[in-house]
Amino acid sequence: MLTFTNLTRAPEIGANSYLLEADGSSVLLDSGMHPRLDGWAATPLLDRIPKRLETILVSHAHHDHIGSLPLVTAAHPKAKVWLTSATSALAEPLLHNSVNVMTRERREKGNADYPLYTHRGVDDCVVTWEHMPLQRPLRPNGGDLEFVFHDAGHVLGSVLTEIRHQGKRALYTGDLNLQRQTLMLSAQPPAGPLDTVIMETTRGAQANPPQQDRAFFEEELLSAIRATFARGGAVLMPVFALGKTQEMLALLHQARLDGKIPPAPIYIGGLGRVLTEVYDRQRSLAPRQQAGLRLIAEVQPETFDPRRIPTLRPRAGHIYLVSSGMMTPHTTSHSIARLFFPREHDSIFFVGYTEPSSPAGQLRATGQGGQLDWGDSSGPLPVKCEVRYFDLTAHATREELVRWVCQSAQPSKVLLVHGDPEAQSWFASTLARERPGMEIVQPPPGQPIPLF
Ligand SMILES: [Zn+2]
Ligand SMILES: [Zn+2]
Repeated sequence: MLTFTNLTRAPEIGANSYLLEADGSSVLLDSGMHPRLDGWAATPLLDRIPKRLETILVSHAHHDHIGSLPLVTAAHPKAKVWLTSATSALAEPLLHNSVNVMTRERREKGNADYPLYTHRGVDDCVVTWEHMPLQRPLRPNGGDLEFVFHDAGHVLGSVLTEIRHQGKRALYTGDLNLQRQTLMLSAQPPAGPLDTVIMETTRGAQANPPQQDRAFFEEELLSAIRATFARGGAVLMPVFALGKTQEMLALLHQARLDGKIPPAPIYIGGLGRVLTEVYDRQRSLAPRQQAGLRLIAEVQPETFDPRRIPTLRPRAGHIYLVSSGMMTPHTTSHSIARLFFPREHDSIFFVGYTEPSSPAGQLRATGQGGQLDWGDSSGPLPVKCEVRYFDLTAHATREELVRWVCQSAQPSKVLLVHGDPEAQSWFASTLARERPGMEIVQPPPGQPIPLF
């Protein structure tokens, strides 16, 4: 029997990590860190991982999928980590950045647990990594379990993980996108029918009107940038350093070439630059569109130095493409936003998922003309700048996922993960209605359940 244990502490997009166990062998799928919790509460249920863990498969380099990896490899020195070469190249600087963030939080918030691991710990973790190409089966230690990676279309290097065991097949989606973005191609799931799908449910609470597709939101965004520049304003786009930064650079570059926006200077953060360089180096090694486009050389983004924030005045006709996408306190986008709030000519444009309780989610809900608590001792700040959201997502929409599951994957069982309770409930009720015979499970944290 092959069992699956959800190691997240709650049904949410948090510290993604899932354990597979069969006949004495155990395999971990992802080893994430919760993006909004602090200290050990942000880690998955690490004490549920058996001592004998030998294999870890990583779906992609976002923090909610890799953030606790150095802790797991330190506790399980025999475990090997398998990931694509692009994920490996992106994950290493991201984990070192996590050490820097935790070290700063220890100083600023007095969190004595931080850092949970050190730069040395990251280096020790990286030596356990093995590159695993797409479509090449891996059979750890010659056992009964076999794994195959397929392109997930989410960020560079992202994969869907096919799990084969005694003639049955499951698919762990990680984060996937079934549509093309500007750089990423659409996901390439293996042909159905599959026996089980372990599926992300990020967008389960968000309906998508059919006429509002990606091209629609791209045009809306470019038109809003033109309008901001025409009234003498600057644009702030809070983005994740990995994925959204590079997608937006490519989109804005094409818009400048097509004359859809003026030749605006674009600023990116330091980490965004490091990861953009990886996109450039890996451009013909990992699946993507515009494999000839070298973002740093051709888009020529400027690197924004956060030390400039105290004296910065946002400049008309400039675009600030800085992290974090959730506007977490102490990040560049959080600090710079308060310079935009009092200026009605300026704009803050969101282009990706914002968790509702995060500062980005709160700013979206407040909108232009509202008052927002931004952590200042002087009280809430009036938001006079324009605030808008453009749905340029890196995740499949809920309608696309239901169509894919029901028509292509056709599993007899679906495990719902990587989504808030409301998002998971929408999938549970919709799939039950569309496919009455399908078994739909919301895996309870910490409890082993049969995968097939
Ligand atoms: Zn992701
Ligand atoms: Zn994720």
